[in-house]
Amino acid sequence: MICIACGKEQQNLVNSHVVSNFIRKRLMGETKSDGSRKFSFSWVGRKDLPKQDLPKPRLMCKTCDNNLGKEVEDGIAELLMPDDVEAFDAWGDLPIRAHEIHGVFDDPLTLGVYDYPLSTQFMIEKFALSVAWRALHALAKDGEQHSCALLNSKRGANIDESVRRHLFNGACLQNTYDAFIYYWSPSTVNFITNNSGDMPFAWAELGDEGESLGVTVMFAYWVIVWPLFERDRSQYSAKLDRLNKLCFMDWVAHVSRQLAS
Ligand SMILES: [Zn+2]
Repeated sequence: MICIACGKEQQNLVNSHVVSNFIRKRLMGETKSDGSRKFSFSWVGRKDLPKQDLPKPRLMCKTCDNNLGKEVEDGIAELLMPDDVEAFDAWGDLPIRAHEIHGVFDDPLTLGVYDYPLSTQFMIEKFALSVAWRALHALAKDGEQHSCALLNSKRGANIDESVRRHLFNGACLQNTYDAFIYYWSPSTVNFITNNSGDMPFAWAELGDEGESLGVTVMFAYWVIVWPLFERDRSQYSAKLDRLNKLCFMDWVAHVSRQLAS
């Protein structure tokens, strides 16, 4: 099996988390000394998975999986969420500002974006990209059409290489766009899951008319949108609008229906 990070044939790949385990642990209260469990998780499309776990595809060798933890994930939990995730005021202390997304509904869709000083913001962006990149590979391993086609293409191979160099070697990101990470409120999460103790987890490739537009990952209070369409300035806004619409209108509704069924 080939590790997606070092590209080497490895005897064993570890069960990697597409969405880092620290997210689940903190939200579930496992990091608290009393060990109380706060939320359960619903993984869309996989009712066989236990509610306290997340899918763990085999993506990386142990060394690379550890490196990703060190290079990208260390220190991210406290940037994304307060120590006590149920303390409403503590969320207000985080630098999350409102950001309007146009082109999805008649009225702008307002989501939260993090607004840290640049060097810190960079860590969050890198983390978001690493999650989306893992999702892209997980989707390809599951045989999803757009993701397979992209990773098998020259353009996709260049994107993949650039992301790896960015995540593991600190190189500038080339050939592709950064991934967006948005915070959505508990009321939006409730709306999606219809259950205040439940957290949605899902990832998907989104595209139409044979074109892959991007990969999206939803986990608890966040959604990541990674545009993967070709870099063409004249097309950027139209394609990003289309991707956002597929994500926030069609896919979110799909997830909500799946969770209700
Ligand atoms: Zn490796």
